Amino acid sequence: MMVLTKKMIEIRNILARVGQSSTLTLPSIVVIGSQSSGKSSVLEAIVGHEFLPKGSNMVTRRPIELTLINTPDSDVEYGEFVDLGLGKIHDFSSIQRTLTELNQAVPDAQCVSDDPIRLSISSPNVPDLSLIDLPGYIQVVGQNQPPILKQKISELCDKYIQPPNVILAISAADVDLANSTALRASRRVDPRGERTIGVVTKMDLVDPMRGAEILNDKQYPLRLGYVGVVSRAPTMAGLFKKGNTNLTSAITKNENAFFSAHPLEFGQGSDVLVGTSTLRKKLMHVLEQTMSASLQSTGDAIRQELEEATYEFKVQYNDRPLSAESYLAESLDAFKHSFKEFTEGFGRPQMHELLKNELDQRMLDLLAARYWNKPIYDLAVPIAEPNSLVDLPTADPTNLYWRRQLDASTSALTKLGVGRLATTVVANAIQSRIDALIGHSTFVNHPFARQAITDAASSILNDRFYSTSDQVENCIKPFKFEIDMEEREWALGRDHVQGVLKKELSACEKALKDMEAHVGGRRKLKEVMNFVDKARKGDIIVEGESHVGAGGFSAALLAKGREAVFLRDRADIIKMRMMAVKSKQCANMQNKYHCPEVFLDAVASKLASTAVLFLNVELLSEFYYNFPRELDMRLGRHLSDEQVEKFAKEDPKIKRHLEVIKRKELLELVLDKMESLRQLEGREKERSKSG
Ligand code: GDP
Repeated sequence: MMVLTKKMIEIRNILARVGQSSTLTLPSIVVIGSQSSGKSSVLEAIVGHEFLPKGSNMVTRRPIELTLINTPDSDVEYGEFVDLGLGKIHDFSSIQRTLTELNQAVPDAQCVSDDPIRLSISSPNVPDLSLIDLPGYIQVVGQNQPPILKQKISELCDKYIQPPNVILAISAADVDLANSTALRASRRVDPRGERTIGVVTKMDLVDPMRGAEILNDKQYPLRLGYVGVVSRAPTMAGLFKKGNTNLTSAITKNENAFFSAHPLEFGQGSDVLVGTSTLRKKLMHVLEQTMSASLQSTGDAIRQELEEATYEFKVQYNDRPLSAESYLAESLDAFKHSFKEFTEGFGRPQMHELLKNELDQRMLDLLAARYWNKPIYDLAVPIAEPNSLVDLPTADPTNLYWRRQLDASTSALTKLGVGRLATTVVANAIQSRIDALIGHSTFVNHPFARQAITDAASSILNDRFYSTSDQVENCIKPFKFEIDMEEREWALGRDHVQGVLKKELSACEKALKDMEAHVGGRRKLKEVMNFVDKARKGDIIVEGESHVGAGGFSAALLAKGREAVFLRDRADIIKMRMMAVKSKQCANMQNKYHCPEVFLDAVASKLASTAVLFLNVELLSEFYYNFPRELDMRLGRHLSDEQVEKFAKEDPKIKRHLEVIKRKELLELVLDKMESLRQLEGREKERSKSG
């Protein structure tokens, strides 16, 4: 018969993994009792080892779901924490330590936790049993314990003593049964005493006559009866504690000695049940009965649950099989595919454009600083210096001043750190394209993978950064000394720079427009700009501190006004320069000193083209080659099963999908096991009939 219990316990444990409703479970034996009632001693006597947390403070703070597995063909004994993955633990004092730590990890403020610790113990000396040890009821709340503790323990126990569980109510013989918290709790949920086994501990502490009376109790009759035990290990237990020697025999010897010393009260004819071994047998028997009884209804519930899961799988997920691994593999393939597409559209021309745009900006800054340098007008210092640009078109080309201006500008452009700039621009572009790719992939819902991909990209880019920028810097070095320009390059520069200037012009105009809105209208801006203009020419003498304002304008408004005047002047200059660039004069490369915009644009193009040649080899090709491999490293075979599972479940939709499949599989497994159990049961019946 024992095989049946083992199989049922197995089914029970699989069901625990399915989670879900309480109808989907097979009964267990729930152990309750007051603190110091001897609860731990009873459990340890059954297991044969000291393994429960001990201490004066409340030590059990979480339920311990204990599965005992009888292994008749082996002589090793060990425990396993089902959820911890610590493997088999052969040393029971180490099990005790782990249990103590797990209990202590529950914060004081929380008092108790209903998250069970699952422990299985395999041994040839234990029966097949499934027991749940709960925190002991407390009578008086201790000094350092929160007052709510008592209630919390009681609530936790109430959760577990619900049907169809069997209640093992522990009471000590030296305490009046009427005062037994365990029995009182059990009566509340099992008023007719149908699924409660009474255990009376410390039988040695009361007069045998009195002890026998307790076990015959008529006031709280229990269908499953009372069993009296003496489960404290004899004093020499100290010796046993050291090793892994079995406690059971020592306790049984001690117990037998006690009970057989009082044959009248506890002997054959006395009609009372005593002894730990009697209790063990009773527990096995009762558990098997109870489990058998609930098999039918649990089976029905499982079938119904399976039907629901199957339906959900069909309707919501189209019967599409999915595993965390396949999901990851598919996602990764899709991502690599989109990366491949990206690589086809991002090469030298794209890099050139990016880099040229960046250099155009730098060129504009240089032009502004060296050529378009109308003085910055200050109200307090009216300046009337001639605008150098106005003179430019008519200047003598051999004039040293203009030569120096262009040489200095060219030098500034070639020496601005093109290597670093180019590498940064391209690396940033790649990184942001990768981010965009992630955004459009299934990985978008997976923080872990998103990070892994971003890291993969930046690690390659960072790796290549310094050598690439050095290489680029080296190869543009000649331009720092001499620029050879061809007519064709000049023509292209002249063409291109017109677009650049046009864009800059509209940026200025837009800023000016925005400012109108900002100061409260076109008229207002005009007024303040007029004032600034006059002050600049010296028509108005502005006295005193300008931050308080002047001419009836606030300081803030004046600042805006100056900004607006600056923008207007900048726009005027750009318009003028656009005309110059378009003019015949700038068509001729010989006039480069008159057309710095064209010259600098052509230089920027040369820089960009040269840089791109090397960026392509040093950075882009390297990246295109290494990135998919880096992805495999970070998201492929190097991940553990748990990591893959965790990854897949980051997406709630995938999580549900996987869970439905998992539930379906577990339920099918359980039904399978139940079917074989049913057949086994049938065969046993046949055998007992014929035997
Ligand atoms: P728990 O708090 O309910 O788990 O109780 P314990 O099993 O830790 O026992 C409380 C105290 O009672 C301990 O000092 C045990 O040694 C003692 N004890 C347990 N069972 C017996 C027993 O059958 N007889 C005697 N005399 N003492 C016992």
